[in-house]
Amino acid sequence: MACHDPARVVHAVTDGEITKVGWQNQKAHRGKKAGAWYRVVVSGKEKPTLDGHMTPGSNPPKGTVVHVGDVLGTMASPTNGHATGMHDHHMEWDSKGKLIKPSGDSPLTNGVRSCIYGETGPSHPKPHCGDDWVIKK
Ligand SMILES: [Zn+2]
Repeated sequence: MACHDPARVVHAVTDGEITKVGWQNQKAHRGKKAGAWYRVVVSGKEKPTLDGHMTPGSNPPKGTVVHVGDVLGTMASPTNGHATGMHDHHMEWDSKGKLIKPSGDSPLTNGVRSCIYGETGPSHPKPHCGDDWVIKK
């Protein structure tokens, strides 16, 4: 379904190819088998990324070549997964497969980090594995 709210659009922060789309472990948002629910994975030469809690079907299909700034889809609203509100769960890895903490540029045009790597709290009793981005107010 098309989304007409540009603030909800998640943009690629790396050049690459969309290699995975769809549901990841629908039962957990935290722990070893944590899932990001509907997620889009871009495999790039430099920096593979994952964006979760996305609107199913808002993304270009698997196999699409994307460049920095291209649309990957929109944040789901209401959100999906074990999340308390709309956000983009964003993860980045370096060329050796090591998680980048914190991640770099915002995938949102007007984004701000709401939950960072390693942070704990009511929704994340175990250290959060990724950066959450929300629309800056
Ligand atoms: Zn998250």
